[in-house]
Amino acid sequence: MQLPQQLLDSLTGIAGFDKEAFVQVHESGEQVVSVRVNPFKSEIGNRQSAIDGSDLTIGHFNLPQLSKIPWCSYGYYLPERPAFIFDPLIHAGAYYVQEASSMFVEQALTQTMDVSQPLRVLDLCAAPGGKSTLLQSLISADSLLVSNEVIKSRAAILEENCVKWGGANVIVTNADPITFARLENFFDVIVVDAPCSGSGLFRREREAIGEWSEQNVQLCYQRQQRILADVFPALKEGGVLIYSTCSYSKEEDEGIGDWLMDTFTVDSLPLKIDTAWGIVETQSDKHQAYGYRFFPNKIKGEGFFISSFRKQEGGASSVKPPKKSLLQKASKNEAGIIQPWLQPKQPVQLWKQKDELFAFPVSLEKELLTIVDNVYVRRAGTAVGKIAGNDLVPDHALAVSTLINQSIVAVSLKKEDAIQYLRKEEVSVSTSHKGWTLVQFEQYNLGWIKVLQNRINNYYPQGWRILKRTTDSANEHN
Ligand code: SAM
Repeated sequence: MQLPQQLLDSLTGIAGFDKEAFVQVHESGEQVVSVRVNPFKSEIGNRQSAIDGSDLTIGHFNLPQLSKIPWCSYGYYLPERPAFIFDPLIHAGAYYVQEASSMFVEQALTQTMDVSQPLRVLDLCAAPGGKSTLLQSLISADSLLVSNEVIKSRAAILEENCVKWGGANVIVTNADPITFARLENFFDVIVVDAPCSGSGLFRREREAIGEWSEQNVQLCYQRQQRILADVFPALKEGGVLIYSTCSYSKEEDEGIGDWLMDTFTVDSLPLKIDTAWGIVETQSDKHQAYGYRFFPNKIKGEGFFISSFRKQEGGASSVKPPKKSLLQKASKNEAGIIQPWLQPKQPVQLWKQKDELFAFPVSLEKELLTIVDNVYVRRAGTAVGKIAGNDLVPDHALAVSTLINQSIVAVSLKKEDAIQYLRKEEVSVSTSHKGWTLVQFEQYNLGWIKVLQNRINNYYPQGWRILKRTTDSANEHN
């Protein structure tokens, strides 16, 4: 399908647009494949860090063989697309398949905020979790990430990806943006990766070309305004709003910058970019708000736009945690049962909701209680499990978390057996150990089995099991 003439016409004249090269790159059929590795997981098991390391193999490639994405500490290009779904490491949260341009959100965050400080970060439009898992990798362990998605089915996928990433400082919520207005001046950073007309993904998703129209660009522009107006009160004075789209259209990009500066007291924030990266800096017509546009004929990645603003109104947060909460702290007895399952000296508090226990950073108690009181929470922190008698029935999230005690008995599976485990089929392992046992692939935890006298139960989550039998082609996210 050809690019819409009206789209090409509307882009003519915008900074850096080269119509011929743009059309040509869309017709080339070229595919850019990129992944982002999980810095937390690489430290687990005391293996050499995957970032500079040699131990992570993706497809047929060891990490050091791959070329780095220059604007992201953890991003790599792959020369070809492996069948990601049949790589156990992706299910272990060792890496995430993410479109390269989107990883630039790292620059927007780290150039505008001191990420060594404890921050409260909201990722408002977060499913399936590309930006959220990157944000998690960038903020400190005593910072909070609230990862929100309004559409329920997509919130489930977001939750799965956040659990696999393994951090304890994340709350996954499923709420309309207006809900966050109750948390006045609460967040230091709000990321709005807005639903948009999607022209930036046309090279990869050619079938979406037919859905593009000028009218849809207008509708998206209006919806983006509503989302931003709804959530803006939740940003504190001095806090940063990071706004992005995968649209090339000026209305949704620079147009939103002008609208924000017309409507609120914000400063537009320029970012430093290396000219060799090929990213185009733009400025909006009215207020000269800075934006950064990614053209696939200029960079190795898909179409993307991002801009950042500092809020200069509102004051500090006066939101207080409630006096009474649905949450209780775990009892001493419960904590004593759980302690051996966790790495020693983790700065986490154990909490209980009904009979489910979860771990959350001690330093974020006020934040946890406040969010739970105001927003529909799907999951907070790391689910640890339930107590049955004097034992823990461990949760899958614990197995793939950064909190898990390294000395828990584990069995290592070969690739075919690991896939069978991830299909939730029967697995046979040789171990003399009885009871709860971790299943690993190349030292990365995949989940739990329970070894009984005469059989082995597979506890991989039913809803997350691999269903596909043939090679997967589309498993890449923004
Ligand atoms: N940030 C995600 C990532 O990096 O993986 C991609 C987000 S996608 C571009 C936009 C998200 O906004 C979608 O998950 C969509 O369901 C959600 N969305 C759609 N309508 C919305 C609305 N009215 N308010 C908030 N979010 C909305």
